[in-house]
Amino acid sequence: MRKEYLMTPGPTTVPERVLLAMARPIIHHRMPIYEKITAEVREGLKWLFQTEQEVLIFAASGTGAMEAAVTNLMSPGEKALCIRGGKFGERWAEICKAYGVTPVNVDVEWGKAVDPAAVDEVLAKDKDIKVVYGQATETSTGVRYPVKALADVARKHDRMVVIDGITGVGVFDIKMDAWGIDGLVTGSQKALMLPPGLAFLALSERAYKAAAESKCPKYYFNAAKELKKLKENTTQFTPAVSLIVGLQESLRMLKEEGLENVFARHEKLARASRAAVLAMGLKLYAPDAASPALTAALSAPLDGSKVMKTLRDSYGVTIAGGQDQAKGKIFRISHMGYVDEWNVMLTIAALERVCMELGLKFEHGAGMKAALAVICEK
Ligand SMILES: *Cc1c(COP(=O)(O)O)cnc(C)c1O
Repeated sequence: MRKEYLMTPGPTTVPERVLLAMARPIIHHRMPIYEKITAEVREGLKWLFQTEQEVLIFAASGTGAMEAAVTNLMSPGEKALCIRGGKFGERWAEICKAYGVTPVNVDVEWGKAVDPAAVDEVLAKDKDIKVVYGQATETSTGVRYPVKALADVARKHDRMVVIDGITGVGVFDIKMDAWGIDGLVTGSQKALMLPPGLAFLALSERAYKAAAESKCPKYYFNAAKELKKLKENTTQFTPAVSLIVGLQESLRMLKEEGLENVFARHEKLARASRAAVLAMGLKLYAPDAASPALTAALSAPLDGSKVMKTLRDSYGVTIAGGQDQAKGKIFRISHMGYVDEWNVMLTIAALERVCMELGLKFEHGAGMKAALAVICEK
């Protein structure tokens, strides 16, 4: 017998309650029964996004909502500032280029957080930049970005700011309305505890004004049309019905726990994971800006890919390795979504065993002891 544990920063484990809800027979989406579900989901998403705006729902992976956040706000030939500190920041720039929008890149060393002053400087110099695109967590490096400070800088220069909160929404506090965020994106397979397949986008009023004038080509991802339909408790096109039914259940679970408790849980699990890795003599990839969504650890003297593969293939615990320049150098443990303290303990226990086998010299049990100490804090 062998159990599988999914500890990756997306997809994440789907709770049994959600799986059972999604197993129900398909209902028709142009029926009162479905409209009732949409009404509940709309309210739940507004609560989660901390906004009065509607949260648009697309049948796509998270990148679909990122693309919509570009095509609905920008026109070809315009400029957008893209914060590039990893794979997902690069994605903003790639989407812009694909639509003829000129990315002005603020490059950030991998493993570091963006300095809002760097964004401030570029915005002060270049008055043509219309939107700032960045992440809440740059998942490829495990770094949390200072979202509020970025929004403050953008507002100071009267520009729009769009945040890819795919590993931020439902993980830590992001106040869309209070902080003046113009676009907030997430996807289903991360903190929302759902299978992949839904992308979410909330836009501010000024973002909808920009959308009315934007000239990037779009058909499926049309925010204004989608907004109109959503207000009628439906969608432009056939929604991913089972995923929406699952979303109704996962939002109920998050509400039962309470947003503050959800954030506190992620924060504590992240602290436990970081303490464990450090106690094993390893170093963090982002010691000054580690995200509560995942822990990225430098694997030296071990090969990070080997740690990841051994954990997965020998012990059924799936974590993530590094990408591109971080490949082989790091491994990433997610504690986002449907994760509790025992999932973290189990992962650390398996990690210790793998590191032992691969020849890391450390005091066996030190990681588990350190993680447990954090978990037992009152
Ligand atoms: C997972 C993730 C995405 C979305 O990727 P998809 O594969 O399109 O769902 C985007 N941004 C960040 C920061 C992510 O972690």
